Amino acid sequence: MSLPCSPPLPGRSPRAHDGVVHETHPTTFWSALPDGRVRCDVCPRACSLHEGQRGLCFVRAREGDEIVLTTYGRSSGFCVDPIEKKPLAHFLPGTSVLSFGTAGCNLACRFCQNWDISKSRETDTLADAASPRAVADAAVRLGCRSVAFTYNDPVIFLEYAVDVADACRERGIRSVAVTAGYVNAEPRRDLFAHMDAANVDLKAFNEDFYRRVCAGRLAPVLETLEFLKHGTDVWFEITNLLIPGLNDSDAELDAMMRWVVDRLGPDVPMHFTAFHPDWKMLDRPPTPASTLSRARRIAMENGVRYAYTGNVRDVDGQSTRCHACGQLLVERDGYALGAWGLDPSGRCARCAEPCAGVFEERPGRWGARRLPVRLGAA
Ligand code: SF4
Repeated sequence: MSLPCSPPLPGRSPRAHDGVVHETHPTTFWSALPDGRVRCDVCPRACSLHEGQRGLCFVRAREGDEIVLTTYGRSSGFCVDPIEKKPLAHFLPGTSVLSFGTAGCNLACRFCQNWDISKSRETDTLADAASPRAVADAAVRLGCRSVAFTYNDPVIFLEYAVDVADACRERGIRSVAVTAGYVNAEPRRDLFAHMDAANVDLKAFNEDFYRRVCAGRLAPVLETLEFLKHGTDVWFEITNLLIPGLNDSDAELDAMMRWVVDRLGPDVPMHFTAFHPDWKMLDRPPTPASTLSRARRIAMENGVRYAYTGNVRDVDGQSTRCHACGQLLVERDGYALGAWGLDPSGRCARCAEPCAGVFEERPGRWGARRLPVRLGAA
């Protein structure tokens, strides 16, 4: 399915809008087409733009003979979250992460749970401004161990995400991409070369769902997952949001889990999360907890070592156990940690089997708090 690009923009950068100047930033991945249009090569959408048009994601636009990023250095807001909220269960558990996003998205999921940001056509959404250096400094000041590009997909603000990640790396802060993985090969390599961890949203395991419900394709997402596993050292986990009657059948879950174990191995954690009616999908009921437990069971029956339920109260389904001896390794109640059964090297304290992931000697102590912060003009 191809979706139309937007009508031409009224002005050139920097543009004044309600007294706020929005800078544009040059980008790398685009091609001039013989018919005079310029194609953005960041994602499979391949938006081919006339002067002044924006791509489907709304944040990349043609300006002159190139594609620019219109949201560089601007955010829809910053918040200190538990890393468990991304969700990442095996990456620095218990630590805090400085989370932020921009606006727009390169998919068009009818069930979007973040639509106020991802579907934003208003630059007013980008209320907070911060240079890459300012984001890294804030993460240090706030005691965060990592920064997360979340709320919307860093693929579409790749240049800003990469510069923030570089500034963070200089300060010893790690970077986390929360992404749908809908990205072309070259920008994929560029983005993940700067990331330390990722959570990839695998929305379903059939092309029809991606085409009809998200206006996208499954194959590029699977390519991203295989690239992360075999082409990088990035720690990554997978989230699968289950929607009643659309992507939650035993057969589909079984096929997905067989693919995950076969192509990615048994150590990639799976998070099965609950849908609630939102955006353009109000005709489906919320996901029952029993569906999440069923998906978790199917994952583990297929050999996935770490599978979790999300968006529901389920201490057993959200805690980590040693895949070898069954010992409780990390107890979780929502985003709060309880018992800790790992030794300082990240092995099971009972049988010494390594637990896959990135662990420190002790768990963090951030807890379940969520702390909105304002960085202000950089
Ligand atoms: S990143 Fe945006 S502009 Fe580029 S191809 Fe994808 S949707 Fe289109």
